[in-house]
Amino acid sequence: MRRVVGIHEEDVLGKAYDARLVRWLWRWVRPYRGWMAVSFVLFVLVAAAQLLQPYLIKVAIDRYMVPGRSSGLPGIAALFLLSLVAEFVFRYLEITCLERTGQGVVFDLRTAVFARLQRLPAAFFDRNPVGRLVTRVTTDIESLNELFASGVVTVLGDFIKLIGIIAVMLWMNTRLALVTFAVIPIMLVLSALFRIRLRDAYRSLRLRLARINAFLNESISGMKLVQLFRRQERNYREFEALNRAHRDVDLGSVRYDSFFSAVVEWVGTLSVALIIWYGGGHIISGAITFGVLVAFIEYTQRFFVPIRELSTKYTVMQSAMASTERLLALFEQPEEPGALVIAGGRDQAAFPRSDRRGALEFDNVWFHYVEGEDVLRGVSFSVEPGAKIGIVGLTGSGKSTLIKLLVRLYEPTSGRILLDGTDIRTFDPSGLRRRIGVVLQDSVLFRGTISSNLTLGDPGISRQEIESACRSVQIDRFIRSLPGGYDHEIQPRGSNLSSGQKQLLAFARAIAFDPEILVLDEATSSVDPVTEARIQTAMQAVTRERTSLIVAHRLTTLAAVDRILVLHHGALREEGTHNELLARGGLYTRLYRYQIRDAEGRADAV
Ligand code: ATP
Ligand code: MG
Repeated sequence: MRRVVGIHEEDVLGKAYDARLVRWLWRWVRPYRGWMAVSFVLFVLVAAAQLLQPYLIKVAIDRYMVPGRSSGLPGIAALFLLSLVAEFVFRYLEITCLERTGQGVVFDLRTAVFARLQRLPAAFFDRNPVGRLVTRVTTDIESLNELFASGVVTVLGDFIKLIGIIAVMLWMNTRLALVTFAVIPIMLVLSALFRIRLRDAYRSLRLRLARINAFLNESISGMKLVQLFRRQERNYREFEALNRAHRDVDLGSVRYDSFFSAVVEWVGTLSVALIIWYGGGHIISGAITFGVLVAFIEYTQRFFVPIRELSTKYTVMQSAMASTERLLALFEQPEEPGALVIAGGRDQAAFPRSDRRGALEFDNVWFHYVEGEDVLRGVSFSVEPGAKIGIVGLTGSGKSTLIKLLVRLYEPTSGRILLDGTDIRTFDPSGLRRRIGVVLQDSVLFRGTISSNLTLGDPGISRQEIESACRSVQIDRFIRSLPGGYDHEIQPRGSNLSSGQKQLLAFARAIAFDPEILVLDEATSSVDPVTEARIQTAMQAVTRERTSLIVAHRLTTLAAVDRILVLHHGALREEGTHNELLARGGLYTRLYRYQIRDAEGRADAV
């Protein structure tokens, strides 16, 4: 069985290299492989310049300084300067190319992740909190960019450079080279030890950071509640503890990191000492020239720089792999199903828009969000074209769920839903949703103008249609009173509007799209009785000749419906007109009596 990589596991850091992940990553890098190749060539050029410099020093010393011939020195100095300039220019170009690759990959991947998110089914968003998905699009992708920014992709180049240095040293003086390299085993053992420590520290650092993020997310989005319930002090303390834990782990990792750097530095110095001790003796005996000695010291210094950076690059690699794994898991999620071919079903093309009817049928529909907890249990009913149906039931009885199934936000576990005799699964979701206008219980507005919120960018909807929709739900006058009217800017999530105003806008939005079927889930639960009464009148017009499903808690909202369905614990308990249901004396009657008594009680109190 393939290992299931949790989109849930935020903080696992595993291997620094995983062939499957790297293969996937390569798909994104491939369009930029030209830039990669160029930067690699540039890297080799930089390394060559770096290798050349100590050699030039050796030549200057041995050939000109020691024999006392100053004539050739300006030439060597010029060459040295040239190699410095070349190193600078090549390095600059190399970094530019790498950044270009990195930014390109990040751009493509981020766009693709967003597109992907938009195609995932509603159930996916039930399982994955917003904060986590935001992390996918930001932090995870950023950590891939680090691969390029920190030069991890040139690790191969680093190795080539190290091998180059070793080769040059062996070529210059094999004996001295071997003496110098005597410290390398110490180096390897120490770095292996520290790498593990560092990795653990780094892993735990990410965990602490994730906890801080989660806590911040929760407390900032719930700030009003925090203040109302005077939880500031407690939250402050909790946050402080999280922050402190983060600092302590961070300090720990810095300790390892600096210790490792210091050790590498020290080992480097040790090898310089070896060079001087061994080489110095041989200079006196004439076996080694002074120039070689100096060149060796220079080479050793260059040798230890990439080694010192190796531990950092290793952790960058690790976190990039972990991020890749999570991104890949996102891409492996099944998408929202499109139009399915079902035996006996007709496809959408058979239904031109002029063929407007809007007959609905639920045929023994079962559904659960969570395995074993049925939310709808064998619901069957049918709605003739143009009929107005009320749906009532206690909180949690499954009313909203019924609607979500109708627009294919979720798929029934078993049973069928038919629109004009056709299984809705044979429609592609967007075609289906064009025919059904929905006002969900929790209406959402986006940042932008009022009118852009009503059209949602659909150019097919005119200003007249918008305004007439707004008039029919009685929000036209309010909109005109706002600065800018229909061009008034709405804050994110509509935070500068009241709940009732938001509902009315969502209502107007559904009407403006002129759907065949109108579905209202508690569309007027937050408006005052006067407005509601006016909407009732407007509804008559809006719902005429249009199949409508109206979910309502306030039974007065349902005064003009043709039929009422009563849901109870996910099953259809009663069905009939208001009078029929009252005569039956069942659940509906009880609900109705409560509300009437309530209303009378209030009237008495006034
Ligand atoms: P209300 O009158 O409060 O709006 P409702 O009749 O619309 O209630 P539904 O929203 O359909 O009720 O919910 C029916 C049941 O399904 C509830 O028990 C609820 O806990 C559960 N439920 C709803 N949405 C989800 C979800 N996304 N994941 C898991 N369970 C859910
Ligand atoms: Mg509901």
